[in-house]
Amino acid sequence: MSSDERLGSHERELYSRQMRLPGVGEAGQLKLKSAKVLVLGAGGLGSPAALYLAAAGVGFMGIADPDKVDLSNLHRQVLHGFDTLGLPKTISAAEALSEINPGLQIALHPEGFTVENAAELAARYDLVVDGTDNFATRYLAADACVLAGKPLVHGSVLRSEGQVGVFLPGAGCYRCVYPVMPDASAVPTCADAGVWGATCGVVGSWMAAEVIAVLIGQRTHSRLQLIDVAAGTARVVRLTVDPACPACGRQPTIRSLEKSAYQPTTCPTAPRSMSEHPLEVSIEEAARLLASAQPPVLIDVREPSEHATCCIACAKLIPMASVPERLKEIPQDVPVLIHCHHGGRSLRVTQFLRAKGYTQVSNVQGGIDAWSQKVDPKVRRY
Ligand SMILES: [Zn+2]
Repeated sequence: MSSDERLGSHERELYSRQMRLPGVGEAGQLKLKSAKVLVLGAGGLGSPAALYLAAAGVGFMGIADPDKVDLSNLHRQVLHGFDTLGLPKTISAAEALSEINPGLQIALHPEGFTVENAAELAARYDLVVDGTDNFATRYLAADACVLAGKPLVHGSVLRSEGQVGVFLPGAGCYRCVYPVMPDASAVPTCADAGVWGATCGVVGSWMAAEVIAVLIGQRTHSRLQLIDVAAGTARVVRLTVDPACPACGRQPTIRSLEKSAYQPTTCPTAPRSMSEHPLEVSIEEAARLLASAQPPVLIDVREPSEHATCCIACAKLIPMASVPERLKEIPQDVPVLIHCHHGGRSLRVTQFLRAKGYTQVSNVQGGIDAWSQKVDPKVRRY
């Protein structure tokens, strides 16, 4: 039995509080000890994620980041400090992680996660944690994990909102939710929109918790957690494979990692139809589409009592629970928008319909409540 296959008395004491948790024990702790985790980005999300994973006893960690520690990083990137300003983030991170867990084995990848090394790195590790802040690397990580059959835990944050995605092989990938890489110029970044360090802490810590859950076998489905720290809300959306997904669907078009597919503003491998029908549309976009010459079909999946309280006039009511038996009423050949009260139930229905082959269906973010606030205040709120 090697040292990786048992715990010493020192380790039993070190991890005693978490080993008492249901489903952990010595077996769970050994799974963490034998795990090889690759952290992409030693920044605002990678910092708390890596620190908690190191502290929890993950045995081997790779850190991929090509940047150096900058003064503007320090309010949120808690792996680094004033004494490591100007150093490569990989080296700064390794120092901090070794301090919190001297037993951790660390591999540095100061070249970052690139098209050239992505496949090899994804194959070498058991799980990839993506805390990077650019779409090219995010989609590269997503596709590399699908191709290598490795789980991916992804996090992103903007202002006071964040999301944590857990994507297990064969259970729905990042592109099942966001099929096409957006134009980088169309989406604000933390650099221009701002972000609280504490929000990064919440999201990065949540990522670490999900990594641990995956490693000890407590996750069986892909899922997305949507977190709003300012509003004090978090909701979980269970994901399934989108049959039209370009990475893991029935007829995937992404079969290798091509440099041209991960340029910041282009994504030639993504089918055009998917970009025209994103998984979710904003309430403003929904209003624009519904007022257009060829409006989409709008379906309300709330309960009849909610529909009676208020409704968006043109919406057809099909309560969520009755969607499976009323599929014939939902057209497959025209664009369809699904809405509910706040956007949670309708996102699940949208996922369900996509899994049934509806490629033109999109969820209305924020639901009728957002409609009341941003489009038509005459629609009653409840
Ligand atoms: Zn997919």
